[in-house]
Amino acid sequence: MTQTKPDLQGRLALVTGASRGIGYFLAKELAAAGAHVIAVARTVGGLEELDDEIRTAGGEATLVPLDLTDMAGIDRIGGAIHERWGKLDVLVANAGILGVIAPLGHVEAKVFDKVMAINVTGTWRLIRAVDPLLRASDAGRAIILSSGAAHSARAFWGPYAASKAAVEAMARSWADETKNMNLRVNAVNPGATRTAMRALAMPGEDPATLPHPSEVAARILPLASPALTETGLIFDVKQDRFTRYQMPA
Ligand code: NDP
Repeated sequence: MTQTKPDLQGRLALVTGASRGIGYFLAKELAAAGAHVIAVARTVGGLEELDDEIRTAGGEATLVPLDLTDMAGIDRIGGAIHERWGKLDVLVANAGILGVIAPLGHVEAKVFDKVMAINVTGTWRLIRAVDPLLRASDAGRAIILSSGAAHSARAFWGPYAASKAAVEAMARSWADETKNMNLRVNAVNPGATRTAMRALAMPGEDPATLPHPSEVAARILPLASPALTETGLIFDVKQDRFTRYQMPA
């Protein structure tokens, strides 16, 4: 995909999981491209650091400290955006947790429920809250962070893999619902990236061998472009191309 930075001047972008990792750097990229960024996460320190960086570079952000298991809180974000702006141009549903790496039979129920609550239900509730706002944009763009785990058979990654397969299924359904509108909905597989989540998943790995989240974010940014035509696909960052989900033969 073309790496030309889109012009997002005057556009509004909401990024979840903006306090660190891929979400942090994607929020910075969106702001540098001209978007006003609504940055959502629980860690106020991370959000404030992001805000400082964005403002120093001449951009604008609104910080929303929120736990994405707070469903009423997610609804309030939708209401507040509606009142202040009346539309949303870009959604980046990026927040997620790994849960635990363990055999399915050993996963504690509360851990499984938490992975589903944040990765799946939180994402769905956000989609529900902003769907009318994205439809109100002349070029609504939704970017849903998935993972290669959604399609691969990987021992011990069960809850996380199931949650990512679920968000991809939602993204495809949403894309089909909106295919005749100005809204484009795509999932992204960022590939292994040097973040806190990856370090938790692969403690023995040398992080220096992995791409920095700023590199990955720069590759995802074009999915926010008003010129984007693709919808209902998965953008694979490593391969730098869109793919369609296929059931294994
Ligand atoms: P990080 O763990 O570095 O960051 C996760 C972000 O999600 C943080 O900003 C965190 O903010 C936020 N978050 C987690 N739980 C909640 C919650 N309950 N409420 C609100 N925000 C929450 O992860 P990455 O940057 O590595 O991952 C980003 C996305 O990319 C995820 O969806 C992940 O599954 C996906 N991905 C990552 C890969 C990698 O190698 N890194 C590979 C494949 C996919 P806070 O804790 O402040 O709330």
